[in-house]
Amino acid sequence: MAMWQNRPEFDKDNLPYRIHRCPAAKTMKGVIVSDGIIGTALHYWKGRSVPCTHDECTACIAGNKPRWKGYFQMKSADEHTVQIVEITERVYPLFEAAKRKHGSLRGLGVRLSRINGKPNGPLQADFDGIQASDAELPAEANLCDILERMWEQKQSAPPITPEEGDPRGNLPFEMPA
Ligand SMILES: [Zn+2]
Repeated sequence: MAMWQNRPEFDKDNLPYRIHRCPAAKTMKGVIVSDGIIGTALHYWKGRSVPCTHDECTACIAGNKPRWKGYFQMKSADEHTVQIVEITERVYPLFEAAKRKHGSLRGLGVRLSRINGKPNGPLQADFDGIQASDAELPAEANLCDILERMWEQKQSAPPITPEEGDPRGNLPFEMPA
């Protein structure tokens, strides 16, 4: 007998991942699902992003400088999905200040844009106050876990080009909102 379901089953170990980076000339808008930002130092190394492992890091030993990237989950305003959004060290203080002001980022409306409208232009973040209550938002997923798994999967994936927002760097990953 068939097993009827009202949605597909998600294989947690084999999710198609996607990290959203703010496009050059479009504003990303949504409500933050995460309590705070988590981040790590990444190398752009041999055509892909790899986390810096600090001890005996091959990229560090070769003189490649890691860059810090931060991540949060956002319920997208246009796409009605929960996305993983990447931010830079430069824009991080705005998130820190918003968290200090509200106690948590969860529920805050956020808009991300590029100051000069260029693909790798500096990020700007604007906050729109509390837009959703805790109960109105999906549970926060374990981002560290998801990202670790994604970077592991990427080791065997074809290299991506360095531009932020490159479609091949944006592997499809959406969690249903
Ligand atoms: Zn390193």
